[in-house]
Amino acid sequence: MIKIEHLVKNYGSHVALSDVSFEISEGEIVGFLGPNGAGKSTTMNIITGCLSSTSGTVTVDGKDVLEDPLEAKRLIGYLPETPPLYPDMSVEEYLNFVYDLKRCTLDRKAHIGEICASVRITDVRRRLIRNLSKGYRQRVGIAQALVGNPPVLIFDEPTVGLDPKQIIEVRNLLRTLSRTHTVILSTHILQEVQAICGRLIIINDGVIVADRRTEELTRVIRDNRRYRLRVAGPQKEVLELLRNLPGIERAEALTERDGEAFSFSFESAAGIDVRRPLFFRLAERGYPVYGLEAVGMDLEDIFLQLVDHPEQSLESMAAARSRRRK
Ligand code: ADP
Ligand code: MG
Repeated sequence: MIKIEHLVKNYGSHVALSDVSFEISEGEIVGFLGPNGAGKSTTMNIITGCLSSTSGTVTVDGKDVLEDPLEAKRLIGYLPETPPLYPDMSVEEYLNFVYDLKRCTLDRKAHIGEICASVRITDVRRRLIRNLSKGYRQRVGIAQALVGNPPVLIFDEPTVGLDPKQIIEVRNLLRTLSRTHTVILSTHILQEVQAICGRLIIINDGVIVADRRTEELTRVIRDNRRYRLRVAGPQKEVLELLRNLPGIERAEALTERDGEAFSFSFESAAGIDVRRPLFFRLAERGYPVYGLEAVGMDLEDIFLQLVDHPEQSLESMAAARSRRRK
């Protein structure tokens, strides 16, 4: 549906995007992740034909955005970082204005009415945009993207600046829209896209550093069976015991000490839950367990790792993360 090939964007001597390529199929919900300044908005502005690229091509449903901008734009609903709202218009006037701008041919009244209902702004449709809360304004921004029923929706950081309640509302709305559209959602917050997006593309410094299925990232986290253990017992003996227990790998003593309790870290071998045998073995020896917790890796960790070490594989990242946690 969207094909981006070797996209480069320079702002003067500043390279904002260097050789960005990816493809998005129809119906995909893609999270476009990266820290501030990574190049997310630049990429989205180029895909939507709002900004020209230095080199490279973007096609939407086979139509080149540069050669056939009107046709490509007809296929995309875009919510830019700063929605182009007119504060002196009422919601209804504004959506009618967008309708004309997009040269929409659907039944005007019915179409705008449906959009208002779906983003739940029907009750404010006669209010001036300037008098709306930030959350409502963002919904109006989403509404303008929906005018003309475009099959592709591109939203640039749609929840930035909203309060927690508004964030939940906008997320629910995005989830609903994702059932019937191809969606690209940019954000610098992983949790934002983890629940909604099937695929995550991570960009940093104008370079794509990862492009994976969300569940693939999640699996790495789940498979990372690293534990931290606190035991009141002689450090050397406990470590020896850990190293000799079947199913335990890479056991190490940590420097941390809390009274008579020493801390250790270890990994359990794939497919083995060592917690039960470990408990009984320690009890047998009379060493009380003060704490045992799994120290996994969340997407935030993966993201930081990716940004720091773009060449690393996810598997080695999991290991690196475990080492850092010790
Ligand atoms: P993001 O949306 O991921 O925060 P942007 O795409 O807005 O990142 O910006 C990418 C880089 O390009 C940043 O370093 C930013 O400072 C720079 N940049 C963005 N727009 C301009 C511009 N109009 N002129 C010069 N530099 C720009
Ligand atoms: Mg941006």
